[in-house]
Amino acid sequence: MGLAPIWRLRTAPAVAAKAGTHWIELKQAVPACTACGLHQTRTQTVFGVGDEQADWMLIGEAPGAEEDRLGEPFVGQAGKLLDNMLAAIGLKRGENVYIANVLKCRPPGNRNPEPQEVARCTPFLKQQIALIGPKLIIAMGRFAAQTLLASDASIASLRGRVYRYEGVPLIVTYHPAYLLRNLPDKAKAWADLVFAKKTMASL
Ligand code: SF4
Repeated sequence: MGLAPIWRLRTAPAVAAKAGTHWIELKQAVPACTACGLHQTRTQTVFGVGDEQADWMLIGEAPGAEEDRLGEPFVGQAGKLLDNMLAAIGLKRGENVYIANVLKCRPPGNRNPEPQEVARCTPFLKQQIALIGPKLIIAMGRFAAQTLLASDASIASLRGRVYRYEGVPLIVTYHPAYLLRNLPDKAKAWADLVFAKKTMASL
């Protein structure tokens, strides 16, 4: 598939403000969803959280155990690291930042999401993107990056370029949970955030 980088992005996201679905309907639809088998094992859905008019949108893989318990994405140690990463580029959770996952329900045992689950769930993510109208998406982790870019390439090979998803510029970096296990890659994540900030400034 084509992954042509877009180095100079000047236009606003094409998706903003055209959404036919309103937040209230979406927030009712997700917790009621039984479109894939994950509804049988979830404690609750994890919708997403943050500024609903944010310029920045961060997208991870799927809820883990703590997220499933609390109903919020990126909590626990990985969430703290994410908050630190955001602070490093002058951002704060909930302020001009929206955080969500590709999947809204936890895969049992934190197994990888299956293609059919992704296919059933991504319409929710696309509606969130349409409603928020972010200027920049950061795909966090291999699964989110590969899913959003329809690619099987590694994070290492996808980093450092600007792609598009649903018309919105997108860059790739490591998931905070991965960074907790692979501390040397923190420097690369820092470089990605600097790149993200530069990219945002150019939009
Ligand atoms: Fe529905 Fe998504 Fe949960 Fe599957 S993962 S039941 S598609 S909300």
